[in-house]
Amino acid sequence: EQISRARSPFKMWLCDKQNATAVPSFTWEEISGLDENYTPIRTYQVCQVMEPNQNNWLRTNWIEKGNAQRIFVELKFTLRDCNSLPGVVGTCKETFNLYYQETDSEVGRSLRENQYVKIDTIAADESFTQGDLGERKMKLNTEVRIIGPLSRRGFYLAFQDVGACIALVSVKVYYKKCWSIIENLATFPDTVTGSEFSSLVEVEGMCVSDAEEEAENSPKMHCSAEGEWLVPIGKCICKAGFHQKGDACEPCGRGFYKSSSQDLQCSRCPAHSFNDREGSWRCDCEDGYYRALSDPPSVACTRPPSAPQNLVYNINQTTVSLEWSPPADTGGRNDVTYRVICRRCSWEPEECVPCGPNVGYSPAQSGLVDTYVTILDLLAHANYTFEVEAVNGVSDLSRTQRLFAAVSIATGQAAPSQVSEVIKEKVQQRSIQLSWQEPHQPNGVITEYEIKYYEKDQKDRIYSTVRSKSTSATVNNLKPSTAYVFQIRAFTEAGYGTYGPRLEITTKEEATGRIHRIKNLGDEELYFQFKFPGTKTYIDPETYEDPNRAVHQFAKELDASCIKIERVIGAGEFGEVCSGRLKLPGKRDVSVAIKTLKVGYTEKQRRDFLCEASIMGQFDHPNVVHLEGVVTRGKPVMIVIEYMENGSLDGFLRKHDGQFTVIQLVGMLRGIAAGMRYLSDMGYVHRDLAARNILVNSNLVCKVSDFGLSRVIDDDPEAVYTTTGGKIPVRWTAPEAIQYRKFTSASDVWSYGIVMWEVMSYGERPYWDMSNQDVIKAIEEGYRLPAPMDCPPGLHQLMLDCWQKDRAERPKFDQIVGILDKMIRNPNTLKTPVGTCTRTYLPEVRFKLRGYNFTAFCTVGEWLEAIKMERYRDNFTAAGYSSLESVARMSIEDVMSLGITLVGHQKKIMSSIQTMRAQMLHLHGTGVQV
Ligand code: AMP
Repeated sequence: EQISRARSPFKMWLCDKQNATAVPSFTWEEISGLDENYTPIRTYQVCQVMEPNQNNWLRTNWIEKGNAQRIFVELKFTLRDCNSLPGVVGTCKETFNLYYQETDSEVGRSLRENQYVKIDTIAADESFTQGDLGERKMKLNTEVRIIGPLSRRGFYLAFQDVGACIALVSVKVYYKKCWSIIENLATFPDTVTGSEFSSLVEVEGMCVSDAEEEAENSPKMHCSAEGEWLVPIGKCICKAGFHQKGDACEPCGRGFYKSSSQDLQCSRCPAHSFNDREGSWRCDCEDGYYRALSDPPSVACTRPPSAPQNLVYNINQTTVSLEWSPPADTGGRNDVTYRVICRRCSWEPEECVPCGPNVGYSPAQSGLVDTYVTILDLLAHANYTFEVEAVNGVSDLSRTQRLFAAVSIATGQAAPSQVSEVIKEKVQQRSIQLSWQEPHQPNGVITEYEIKYYEKDQKDRIYSTVRSKSTSATVNNLKPSTAYVFQIRAFTEAGYGTYGPRLEITTKEEATGRIHRIKNLGDEELYFQFKFPGTKTYIDPETYEDPNRAVHQFAKELDASCIKIERVIGAGEFGEVCSGRLKLPGKRDVSVAIKTLKVGYTEKQRRDFLCEASIMGQFDHPNVVHLEGVVTRGKPVMIVIEYMENGSLDGFLRKHDGQFTVIQLVGMLRGIAAGMRYLSDMGYVHRDLAARNILVNSNLVCKVSDFGLSRVIDDDPEAVYTTTGGKIPVRWTAPEAIQYRKFTSASDVWSYGIVMWEVMSYGERPYWDMSNQDVIKAIEEGYRLPAPMDCPPGLHQLMLDCWQKDRAERPKFDQIVGILDKMIRNPNTLKTPVGTCTRTYLPEVRFKLRGYNFTAFCTVGEWLEAIKMERYRDNFTAAGYSSLESVARMSIEDVMSLGITLVGHQKKIMSSIQTMRAQMLHLHGTGVQV
């Protein structure tokens, strides 16, 4: 029968002859006796101690095993000590044997010994003992044996006596199981233990009602051989609308809800919502209140806002600006935006039609966050009405009447609109012929066009103008090979229109006799357009007359209440840089860096400060620092940027000198190159690419930062004035940019090569402590930075390619990304060959370097040659100075001991060794010990 640790054993007594079979049948006998407490008991006894060769069997009846695989047999018996029996020496035994036989059914009363499997020989721990008064006391022994795994339906147990004096008092047969249980809201059924002592039976739990399995975490437990539940895994959780109470799930009460099984508790219905059922997963909105699709069930129900207030307008010819105050009631939401509806009306009777697509809205027609809009390109002398409506996330769900503020306005006389579609018809050495289309809205009869132009690279802009009565003109008296910028505007009775966009054209080179004229240039050549369809192009914020417009065109205005400043992390040019958190409505809060504009700024400082945001806001790339938005209304003025936990790349590398693998470093470089590829594709030239202007986040992702117009380089402490005017970070800048301010993506590639060198040398200063003048001179003479320590040759080769004098020869960012990707995919290419000299130089300058850099030499011989002391080569070799490193450790005594006797030569060699030592220390940190 079954038994577990939780229930008391059910004993199976062998109490009469129906239960047991004895062979030979006269040996084992059923006898009444007394147990140790003198309680009467019935036993099976045998005591053939005087006769030799005993073999007396007693067998149980057939026992069906049920589900059990591992059976426990507990025997209680007494056994007499042979010493207590006189005259039995040689025949008396003190053990008996326990056997079993597996069968699928009862096999009758005959017993075949060879079909039995022996379980064990059983001996007594105690036998009869002598009591205090000399009486014999029977001692009860208990032994447990385990049989299994069993495979048939049932079995017999048998006891073989071989001549002992035994009284079998009880035989208890049982198996163990784990009792059904509820754990983690899952029910586990009664489970019989496994067949082996060490086996665990895995059992799947069933969720209790109104509970469900946690995703990918279904409940399981393990039943041990001892009948204990072990190792619970996974769980069930109460379904939406239910919460846990003890081992069960109960429905949420009325007025409460639970939206997901993940939530622990039922919550009270949020404001303006209710429910009158139990077990709800959400609450319904009261009449007139709604929930937007994106609103979670936990937020209050809301309603559309009321109408905007205090709508005022201002007309300027055909431009109307509207301004208003926010609605009195936002409907309980903070996503209120505004939209304008424009209608043009005939004078009489008043009949209005939508304004159509020719009217412009700045910043936009709908989705307006700010309480103003400008409507452009209206017709002159026309009647309009404008409705301004406040909308929020639930406006479209509401069927109540629209609420809006409205004005009716008549426009005035207007100048013509912009001349924007200009074609260069013919470009020559000294003249350029242009033609253009009439503006979209002439607003009258155009009597004349004015063409304004100036030399692009001239510092003090001197404008010239040419007038034309038709839509084409030729501009003469230009200089050859010179870039000019043209702008055109139209004139009517109402005055001049605004200038169209700037068009840059370079005149032809002076003829050398070898130029082949190309007739029939393709349309691509002839058309000049500011935007190429399909490519996003960077727009210089300078082209905006109103810098505030530019900021709001490209950057989101944030509400200062969404920003929490936590601590100061750095100092920028315009004020402190802080870290903090940004929480936008309906979004998770994010870590941000906040650049502030210090109080007391001038208008120009404010403009320059926000210029960075106008530029950054145009970019969207994982390797370009992301702008979250700006705060321009309110003080301080702030620029909010994604937070880059590890700060600037140069400082970060210095802090972790030598701690990254080459692959990690190349990964960083790859990121920077990808960011630069994106920027150059957008037509943006950075001009100040350097490790200090790269930011690193917590995942080691590098992002390009520090955007500004050229003058913003003024903020860089590395920038110095050059003879060509303007400040330039010399060590990072391509020679053509230093010499004649030719900044292009190719000059950015040069700077990128320097960044590669900074990265591979863990933030070493390019060209160490050489002066800027020396750097310019050395570069001009062909010198290039050598490979940093442990830098794979392939990477140094890429740096050298970036530093090609001819900028057309430098790789493009796209190619750089490709090369780095290849290296990352084949890390073998990044192994530095052991024992080879990886110092690099351009051959033609190898020997010009005496004054600069010993890293240009590989051998002692080369060095001696460079300082014109090669006559001592054999002296060095004979004394065992085979590497420059060993030479760098030499003292003056060592030099003298080589047999160099001339004091002048000793001095020359020693001074060169000292320089070498300084440079090696610089390069390798603690590499050389002297
Ligand atoms: P900047 O004016 O951009 O040179 O910023 C000054 C310093 O502020 C930098 O050198 C950085 O250490 C820190 N900083 C700027 N932007 C961030 C950012 N997005 N995340 C973390 N630190 C920044």
